Amino acid sequence: MARIVMKFGGTSVGDIDRIKNVAKRVKREVEAGNEVAVVVSAMSGVTNQLVDWCKQMAPLHDQKEYDTVVATGEQVTTGLLAIGLQELGLKARSWTGWQVPIRTDSTHGKARIDSIDTPEMLADMAEGVVAVVAGFQGIAPGNRIATLGRGGSDTSAVALAAALKADRCDIYTDVDGVYTTDPRIVTKAKKLDKITYEEMLELASVGAKVLQTRSVEMAMKHHVRVQVLSSFVDAPGTLVCDEDEIVEKELVSGIAYSRDEAKITLVRVSDRPGVAAAIFGPLAEAAVNVDMIVQNVSEDGKSTDLTFTVGRADLDRARKVIEDHKATLAYEGLICDANVVKVSVVGVGMRSHAGIAQKMFQTLASEGINIQVISTSEIKISVLIEEKYTELALRALHTAYGLDAA
Ligand code: ADP
Ligand code: ASP
Ligand code: MG
Repeated sequence: MARIVMKFGGTSVGDIDRIKNVAKRVKREVEAGNEVAVVVSAMSGVTNQLVDWCKQMAPLHDQKEYDTVVATGEQVTTGLLAIGLQELGLKARSWTGWQVPIRTDSTHGKARIDSIDTPEMLADMAEGVVAVVAGFQGIAPGNRIATLGRGGSDTSAVALAAALKADRCDIYTDVDGVYTTDPRIVTKAKKLDKITYEEMLELASVGAKVLQTRSVEMAMKHHVRVQVLSSFVDAPGTLVCDEDEIVEKELVSGIAYSRDEAKITLVRVSDRPGVAAAIFGPLAEAAVNVDMIVQNVSEDGKSTDLTFTVGRADLDRARKVIEDHKATLAYEGLICDANVVKVSVVGVGMRSHAGIAQKMFQTLASEGINIQVISTSEIKISVLIEEKYTELALRALHTAYGLDAA
């Protein structure tokens, strides 16, 4: 007997028939003798609608109340699935984040899980009751509902698998595994049988939304065996595992893109010690993550342009923080541009092979695509380009790195 966590994303629970289909999949695992906890997302489209309502109430709303609103989607799915399982003759009960409880920090809107209390759930599961847990949510200090950031149900599932010491965490979604790039954009994308935690982490962090970044971090830290599988077809998925489990290693394992980017340029900001701290300190305090940063060489020794990227959802917040500090920063202009996309090439092979960045720049140049900002890490190169070139850039790079399926 194994103990497993199964997670179903929004499309997989998108309507009543799909939830009934999920119930059947869960039943198969129970009948195979497994102890099962299921983590579910909100039905597809629901979270977007809830987020939109918060924005309509006030563009810069209280994040605690945002969490109260957006966490509701998952509760509906837990109850519906529990009913579906009971209809199939199984014992099942729903759990919200606060009932478990899944404790988080107080970074509302993108909270981190601190701990999960499992004794009650384990006792229930030992009695043969399927635990149906709401993904994406937890309980923050002060007894406030918290959510884990978009895509956070993946993290709920992996964290629960670690806390329950589960043998496996199966992430069911609307594609049958992790591909070399988003298969919805590049039809020649190839499915990977296995991918290292490290590469998956990097791909997720640069936009491959098939797994939330924190879920991969968590899996890596706690050695959770994660599989990405289709909830619609029975086919082997992709296993996320340690590097030594992978025999054939590619130079480049995947290409990702993120439209969740916005570029901010401070024009002619004064060039003196402490300026970067004066800009990025207040942004950090406002929980705005800054990603790529470039500072031009100062021509007159007095002022320079500083460009950086933030998440698109944080753009209004970031703009306000910078405008509030205009007196200290003494910049001449502030340009905000959400019409950008970040395209990244990831592969452990970059550690030992030169020329991978050059191939990226050359390929984009030959398609006439201008690179606005570049950033690199040990196993990744990212460029910021105009959004309208997303598909073109992805297809050209996929071919250039020899990743196209035969
Ligand atoms: P869920 O609702 O199940 O959590 P998501 O929409 O969050 O599903 O993630 C699945 C989607 O991720 C796929 O539909 C696909 O378009 C996208 N995706 C992006 N990059 C990749 C990749 N490299 N491999 C597979 N899917 C990817
Ligand atoms: N429902 C949440 C979202 O759409 C969490 C998730 O699906 O993972 O972001
Ligand atoms: Mg997701």
